[in-house]
Amino acid sequence: MAACAVAKQLPYLDVTLLESPAIPPVGVGEGSTPHFKRFMTLLGIDESVWMPACGATYKNGIFFRNWNGKQDQYFHPFYCKEDVKTAEVFFYLANQRRRGMPIDVDICDYFITGHLARQHKAPVSQQKAINTEYGYHFSADRLATFLKSIAIGLGVTHKLGMVDRVTLVPEGDEVASLILQDGQRLEADLFIDASGFQSILLGKALKVPFIPFSDQLLTNRAVTLATKQTPPFTFTDSIAMNAGWRWRIPLQDRIGNGYVYADAFISPEQAEQELIGELGENVVDGSIRHLSFTAGMRQKTWVGNVLGIGLAQSFVEPLEATSLMVTQLCVEFFIHHMNSQDGTLQDKQQQLNQQINGLLAGIKDYIVCHYAASQRTDTKFWQQASHVDKGPVLIDIMHTWRNGQDVDEVLYTKDKELAYFRPSWYAILNGMDYHAENTATPGDVLPMNLLNQAIHYSQRLCEENFISQDKLLHEFTRAG
Ligand SMILES: Cc1cc2nc3c(=O)[nH]c(=O)nc-3n(C[C@H](O)[C@H](O)[C@H](O)COP(=O)(O)OP(=O)(O)OC[C@H]3O[C@@H](n4cnc5c(N)ncnc54)[C@H](O)[C@@H]3O)c2cc1C
Repeated sequence: MAACAVAKQLPYLDVTLLESPAIPPVGVGEGSTPHFKRFMTLLGIDESVWMPACGATYKNGIFFRNWNGKQDQYFHPFYCKEDVKTAEVFFYLANQRRRGMPIDVDICDYFITGHLARQHKAPVSQQKAINTEYGYHFSADRLATFLKSIAIGLGVTHKLGMVDRVTLVPEGDEVASLILQDGQRLEADLFIDASGFQSILLGKALKVPFIPFSDQLLTNRAVTLATKQTPPFTFTDSIAMNAGWRWRIPLQDRIGNGYVYADAFISPEQAEQELIGELGENVVDGSIRHLSFTAGMRQKTWVGNVLGIGLAQSFVEPLEATSLMVTQLCVEFFIHHMNSQDGTLQDKQQQLNQQINGLLAGIKDYIVCHYAASQRTDTKFWQQASHVDKGPVLIDIMHTWRNGQDVDEVLYTKDKELAYFRPSWYAILNGMDYHAENTATPGDVLPMNLLNQAIHYSQRLCEENFISQDKLLHEFTRAG
């Protein structure tokens, strides 16, 4: 991603992409947020080209299932400006519900992507210009190969080689060169560290401290496997399990599954068995993999002449699929600062580091909320995961919501500390039915006709302007 974006937007730079033939990419990371659409648009690559090449499908949002342990479910939609009017009705009803009104409020009724997800439709408007926001699912390996070929097409030199040693400048605060195993020395003005969890430049060479999130996020391992294709749906499934949660991600030729769990509570073998037990006969032979990770981030992202991205820089566990988005934003902020005439290099580095740290803190708060709002107590994992330290921002939001107070006021005042906007907070806290038992101040009942109008409005937009994903993907294949 970085090689493509830098080659495209800073074309005066000579870029070399180095990867080791002995260390394959991590090969997971198959869901995106809507930011990825902007990334491909920036590169000028049409969906009809890259989606078939990467086995990609559309993602309208995420269904969360059983997070309260009661076979409950809710949707986290991606939202667009077309949702503004109907979203207000949803906010109103969600507020009434948490204040004691005994009503069901399904967010899918009020957001276009909610309707699209239910109907397996692609979020691409066919008739009227409705600019929906949406993400994708894709094969991580095929996407990496595809982007590599785009980077080479943009003039990037691709090199295979294993970094054996890193030399620093005499002051010790910048990287001077990479010494490869075959003895080659690579020098550069700037290094982008995309070396995965090893973080060989930012972490190992420059010794930028790692800040773990493990006191708040308990998961640290995943077991992944593929199951056979079913007609691809247009959402990610996130299903709570005994010691974590599992994803189901539909690709064009298979379903990607992964159980993200905490090994303090179950062993890898138990996790594998629990996952297989859920998936039945459909597991594709030879597809099972075990991975470990530590959620956390480097204290700084841009230090000296090194910009860290990807897993070398941070990882906030895969819930909400934010890692590629953070990578993209690191690169976008970097390119912005490189093109800007304002400030010294130190100013730019400080700004970028603050931007990324703020973004990660905001993402962490939202991810922690998934566990902290859960009423599950059926396993030791859930007893602990729902009682981790929440931090001041999340405490404020959750406390205000739970007690029926004005949560919008809190969201507005804390705006700069949040990575997720109002609809996302309402989606999760309403979805988790998070409220105190004794609140009883629901306010006025919303007139039935207003409610029906809101539901019908987004339903009609969905029916009139969008076609099934199947049909659209077939059109791409036929055209290709
Ligand atoms: C369980 C799990 C689920 C995830 N799900 C999602 C998701 O749904 N959405 C999302 O956005 N992200 C997700 N991620 C994160 C996503 O996988 C990564 O952000 C993404 O794959 C980028 O990884 P990377 O390039 O930073 O590291 P890697 O893929 O590990 O690549 C590291 C590269 O560095 C090279 N390298 C390493 N050491 C050397 C060396 N000494 N010399 C030369 N080259 C070297 C390797 O050859 C390799 O090419 C997930 C991660 C995990 C662990």
